[in-house]
Amino acid sequence: MRWDLINSFLVRADDGSVTLVDTGLKSAPPRILAALAEIGSGPSDVTTIVLTHAHLDHAGGAAALAQSTTRGMTVHSDDAEFVRTGVAPPRDESQRLGRLSRRMSSNFDAAPVARTMTEGELLADSQLRVHHTPGHTPGHCSLLHEPSGTLITGDAIWNMRSRRTWPVLAFCTSGALTEQTARTLGDLEYTTAAFTHGPEIQERGREAIREFLAKPKRFGPGL
Ligand SMILES: [Zn+2]
Repeated sequence: MRWDLINSFLVRADDGSVTLVDTGLKSAPPRILAALAEIGSGPSDVTTIVLTHAHLDHAGGAAALAQSTTRGMTVHSDDAEFVRTGVAPPRDESQRLGRLSRRMSSNFDAAPVARTMTEGELLADSQLRVHHTPGHTPGHCSLLHEPSGTLITGDAIWNMRSRRTWPVLAFCTSGALTEQTARTLGDLEYTTAAFTHGPEIQERGREAIREFLAKPKRFGPGL
C-alpha cells in the first residue's frame, strides 16, 4: 500500500501473518486498516508493527494501531524511548531553521514498544533485514526485503516529486550523520527502492540511489 506523500508498507508472509511498516500520521489508521482489508487480511493477522523511526508522520498512528492489533511496536533501541513517551527526537541545531522549528511541537501519542531491533537483524515474520541508518533520528532504520529485492529507505532519502533529496534538515537530529549513513544504502543489493516519502522506483532503484549519492551537492536545509 502506498500514498505518495507518506507511505506505509504491508508485508504478508506465506502463513498469512502481516508485518506493517510505519503507521503514518494520527489520522492514518483507518486507511491502513482499509488497505489491510483490501489484501484480505484483518487486524488480528498483524503480528509485527515496525517503525522506521519515531517521527509523528511515521509513528502518529502507532497508539491506535497498537490497540486495534494488540501489538506493540518494533523499533530500534535508540528510538524506543521516543515511541514510549511520544516525545519527538532532538533536532539538528546547526541551522537556524532547526532552532526555530524546535518550538513547533512534533510530539505524538505514546505507544507501547514490544521489542527493539538491532543493526543486521533479520525480522523473522517479514524477512526484513534491519539497517541502522542513524542521523535523521538516533534510531532511524532502513529495511531490506531480500526475497523481493526491495529496500524501504525510511527517511534516509526522500523521493518527493520523483526527485531524490535529503530529508529536510530541520527535521533531522543530525544532518551530517544522515548523509554519512545513507551512503551505506548504495552498497546493499536491491532493485526496488521504496521511499517513505515519494513514489517507489522499480527495477533501477539502487541505480537511482547510487546516482543521487554520487552527486557532489551537500546536505541542504530543504528540498
Ligand atoms: Zn522523519
